[in-house]
Amino acid sequence: GEGVGATTVEGNESPLAGPNVMNVILVAAECAPWSKTGGLGDVAGALPKALARRGHRVMVVAPRYGDYSEPQDLGVRKRYKVDGQDMEVSYYHAHIDGVDFVFLDIADFRHRQNDIYGGNRVDILKRMVLFCKAAVEVPWHVPCGGICYGDGNLVFIANDWHTALLPVYLKAYYRDNGLMIYTRCVLVIHNIAYQGRGPVDDFRYVGLPGHYLDLFKHYDPVGGEHFNIISAGLKTADRVVTVSHGYAWELKTTEGGWGLNGIINENDWKFQGIVNGIDTRDWNPKLDAHLKSDGYTNYSLDTLQTGKLQCKAALQRELGLPVRGDVPVIGFIGRLDHQKGVDLIAEAIPWIASQDVQLVMLGTGRADLEEVLRGFDNQYRGKVRGWVGFSVKMAHRITAGADVLLMPSRFEPCGLNQLYAMAYGTVPVVHAVGGLRDTVHQFDPYNETGLGWAFERAEAGGLIDALRNCLNTYWNYKSSWEGLQKRGMTQDLSWDNAAKLYEEVLVAAKYHW
Ligand code: ADP
Repeated sequence: GEGVGATTVEGNESPLAGPNVMNVILVAAECAPWSKTGGLGDVAGALPKALARRGHRVMVVAPRYGDYSEPQDLGVRKRYKVDGQDMEVSYYHAHIDGVDFVFLDIADFRHRQNDIYGGNRVDILKRMVLFCKAAVEVPWHVPCGGICYGDGNLVFIANDWHTALLPVYLKAYYRDNGLMIYTRCVLVIHNIAYQGRGPVDDFRYVGLPGHYLDLFKHYDPVGGEHFNIISAGLKTADRVVTVSHGYAWELKTTEGGWGLNGIINENDWKFQGIVNGIDTRDWNPKLDAHLKSDGYTNYSLDTLQTGKLQCKAALQRELGLPVRGDVPVIGFIGRLDHQKGVDLIAEAIPWIASQDVQLVMLGTGRADLEEVLRGFDNQYRGKVRGWVGFSVKMAHRITAGADVLLMPSRFEPCGLNQLYAMAYGTVPVVHAVGGLRDTVHQFDPYNETGLGWAFERAEAGGLIDALRNCLNTYWNYKSSWEGLQKRGMTQDLSWDNAAKLYEEVLVAAKYHW
């Protein structure tokens, strides 16, 4: 009669209730909060929950790198051969926020928590081969809540080169043999810089008949003829998504396509950009768990000015910087990699340090760039704090306590930190590229519009000009500054928006091909 079910259906805003509800399986090499090196982990943790909220049955498949507390051993064991070696897989499961999280426990993945992509080229390739071989069969072997997903109405979402073998296996093992013919696979590109490249001979590790070699063989001026996993994924996926419109455009160009622009242009009909959302429970100044101690505080739009001031003081205290409310604090958070433009900051640091500002940098990565951070710390004591380390807590605290977030990335598929910053009333200064161009509209002082500063060329001069204008507004135009903060904080950056767009892609993959 009038059970809970009836209420749920009525209150369900998804246009896809009833027979259109899909079974969605997102497969990724990392998934926050269990494993994360960057944006991919955040997406794998959040998008599935947003799709589940729209009424779909959703599973995430990721490796089990450590001993996670919630997921329980399902007792299922399967064996797969990789490079002639027999490997056992067992399956752990937890149902959280409406999503079935399934972790594959495999000897080669264990204890890699802090070294997910470690090992030599062949090691990591073999790991991903095994992971994808097992993942494509999860809907058959792994009962979630007692019932396997099966292949009815099933769409996979594969992510980056690590899981780009999924659409290939779906085709080669199943569809080309008349199996799983209604199952589809969407491939999401989070970063084209990583492609799973190797010599053509690497083909022997993927365990496919010779006539599939052409899918993997790729030629470009840099690599010559080589083996390329992303290339095979791009050709076999039913739809391809990348994480912003700006990046989608760049991937079609010679400069931005990293050798794959040709294939992407050939497959343009199935290719589009969708900007990532943010987890608005995790990254919300009102709720942020990392702001509940050590003098920090939660805040909202109504309490922004006092709340941010308090967080800033707490940050300055925690980092050993002079506690001053009137000095603008500039933050940087990110992997220390050529991509993130740390060298541009290094070039601009004499100018930055000549201003009455504080600069706080958090990151890990390339050893020489970690040295750069330590060098800043020594040379500009009391003004610049370079923190080498990976600390989610510190990332949240910097996002809350800083006035400005600096993101001079050379390329940036989507970028999450600028989105987090805006949600916290922290004004972004970015290089206008990829997702940064999509999401940080340039401040227009005449119309009082825009969200921050976006400079056009990845050069220290451009960075300094943008930062100078930003600081000038901070010091001299208080109401403009508060306008920037308010516009940033009142945007809907949630995954719900992005999930609606992903759903359209899943439907297109399913019904229009
Ligand atoms: P990418 O995926 O290229 O690394 P994104 O901006 O998309 O860049 O995502 C980076 C994510 O990783 C953000 O959630 C950011 O806060 C986090 N992050 C990066 N470096 C660190 C660090 N040193 N400590 C804590 N979190 C970090």
